[in-house]
Amino acid sequence: MTDTNIKFSLFNELADKEHEQVVICSDPESGLKAIIAIHNTTLGPALGGTRMWNYESEAAAMKDVLRLSRGMTYKSAISGLNLGGGKAVIIGDAQKEKTEVLFRAFGRFVDGLGGRYITAEDVGMTEKEMEWIYSETKYVTGIPKELGGSGNPSPVTAYGVYMGMKACVKKAYGSDSLEGKRIALQGAGNVASHFARHAAKEGAKLFISDIYEDKAKSLAEEVGGELVAPEDIYGLDVDIFNPCALGGVINDETLDQFKCDIIAGGANNVLDQEDKHGQMLLDKGIIYAPDYVINAGGVINIASELEGYNQERALQNAGNIYNTITDILTYSEEQGIPAHQASNTLAEKRIEAVGKIQNKYSSNAEISGRLGSVYKRFVD
Ligand code: NAD
Repeated sequence: MTDTNIKFSLFNELADKEHEQVVICSDPESGLKAIIAIHNTTLGPALGGTRMWNYESEAAAMKDVLRLSRGMTYKSAISGLNLGGGKAVIIGDAQKEKTEVLFRAFGRFVDGLGGRYITAEDVGMTEKEMEWIYSETKYVTGIPKELGGSGNPSPVTAYGVYMGMKACVKKAYGSDSLEGKRIALQGAGNVASHFARHAAKEGAKLFISDIYEDKAKSLAEEVGGELVAPEDIYGLDVDIFNPCALGGVINDETLDQFKCDIIAGGANNVLDQEDKHGQMLLDKGIIYAPDYVINAGGVINIASELEGYNQERALQNAGNIYNTITDILTYSEEQGIPAHQASNTLAEKRIEAVGKIQNKYSSNAEISGRLGSVYKRFVD
């Protein structure tokens, strides 16, 4: 591929996904190679974590940051947050290439954006690196409890999953109670464990699997559930499947196995091919809670931190996922479209409506700022 081709495809990609700004951060002395992508700031500053990953190429890193930042726009918009979508990637080996100076350099780049982008922890990052970034910029959220932040978001994410699942149950069976419902739980990690406690308390029967059998076993014992082998989780005769481990689990292979009425869970990117498998779920009559909506408790939690963190309030906001899922399922039914598509459309509608008002009722300061660059005499 020639240089011209690379440039051409990059700008095509930006135009196609409608990104506002992409910042390439280079600091050869510290070895920092990072990209910050700001997708959309109509609803507020672009929020999204920083991921450190040993990408196979710069193009792969660019593709990932563009995809993830766009996803954050939709997640915040559908969750009713006053935030836009952004993301950052640092190209490097998270096991070997972490230094204070690299993350402080990155923090300076974040700071330079003056709040248009707010960062948080993502794959490959730990509290230690976040503290280095935080020492250079205040535009960081999801920081440790000891520094006045919100700490681990899993309890709030799990509560959102539980409430979103109840909305699906209401749609399927007329009552939102989980009592007597049979739930297959894939994964026995942080989110799954908190979720299982809520569901068991309400009288649900849980079937639990994890690649680490001891984890699944101890959770099953705690909540009176049953241990299941990881490969058997898809075909169980249950009412609900809750993917709480990894992405891509709704695919050509698993779709034939599902006997459940509902798929609602914490994992990200569960549809292997979004449009194809979302449509197949609709065709099979399985109610699907779009992953990025039902697991938004995490972003709701770190967004609460920006207002002064209060877990009660974060839980209350995550509880609103019940109403959001209800609206999405209703719209999906009315329009005869898959739930993920209904959710994307509702998110776009919110952004468009708010954007229109902003354009219509611009403040005097905004107007004179805009005109000032063209008609200098208006600014004095
Ligand atoms: P976690 O690492 O605590 O738990 C994941 C569990 O899944 C682990 O116990 C792991 O052993 C298990 N697992 C991996 N592959 C498996 C397989 N094939 N079958 C069964 N179990 C398997 O992670 P978590 O924080 O609980 O997150 C779970 C999912 O939810 C992830 O997809 C994550 O991206 C998503 N999520 C988490 C949050 C959050 O607040 N933690 C927020 C939004 C989304």
